[in-house]
Amino acid sequence: MINLDFIDEKIARKQIVLLDGATGSELEKRGVAMNSAAWSAEAMLTAPDVVQAVHEDYIQAGADVVTCNSFSLARHMLARAGMAEQFRRLNAAAIAVAIKARDRVAAGPVAIAGSIAPTTFCANPQLCYPPLDQALSWYEQQAMILAEAGADLLIIEMIEDIAQGSLAIKAALTTGLPVWLGLSCVKNAGGEILLWEQGHSLAEAVGIFAGMGADAAFIMHTETEDAAAGLAVLAAGWSGKRGVYAHSGNFVMPNWQFADVITPEAYADAAKKWVEMGADIIGGCCGIGPAHIRRLKETL
Ligand SMILES: [Zn+2]
Repeated sequence: MINLDFIDEKIARKQIVLLDGATGSELEKRGVAMNSAAWSAEAMLTAPDVVQAVHEDYIQAGADVVTCNSFSLARHMLARAGMAEQFRRLNAAAIAVAIKARDRVAAGPVAIAGSIAPTTFCANPQLCYPPLDQALSWYEQQAMILAEAGADLLIIEMIEDIAQGSLAIKAALTTGLPVWLGLSCVKNAGGEILLWEQGHSLAEAVGIFAGMGADAAFIMHTETEDAAAGLAVLAAGWSGKRGVYAHSGNFVMPNWQFADVITPEAYADAAKKWVEMGADIIGGCCGIGPAHIRRLKETL
């Protein structure tokens, strides 16, 4: 674990803290096969060296925080892929590989975030979430493994449902590590910003999550063009650190489609607007790679 004061010091100096870009879609771009039930999980078995290379590229592009490849290593996801018995080993390995990347190439402080995703890869997520009476304990187990393996903070990624999101946040907080929240959003036909699953508005979700004790919140895995509207809703209800890591392109399970991905220049232009709106921390999600992060570093 490293001292995270450098993050608050950067923000106090009005400098933008940079996250990395996508991990899963970047692995796919480099030819790593994605699992049809647990997406990027399998890469920890088949291509840990490529995972490490992705982390190294983001650190060299200027990321202050890299998120380890544990997004698809939640217990309920591994179970659907027949990989449940690898739960502890793969989560620990995801942190270990990120630490190795940091040790090899970081020139300054870089925080390693453990990712916990209260989401699913099912068309009807409600059928594939952890059962509500077990979800807290399953998320806690993952949070504890990531913390013990050396995570500096935890990011709850792709929060799309209030019940599952709340349990994952609660679980992560039990480790004592800083907890960051990634809220996935969509804009409906009326222009309202909703949580991904469309059962709740973003405003409602922020109202519930704001009192739980997390340290930062993000509009993440959201279309780049909708992120500013999401950030405005977040800013109205969240007093902590905040930011954006948006996506570009679209997903046809198990592969991200890169045909329409935004250029690094255009992504950096969008990010300038987020900074004007008060974002402290910026990175990228699916489709956004090291070239985009490097451009953010040069621009912001
Ligand atoms: Zn994404």
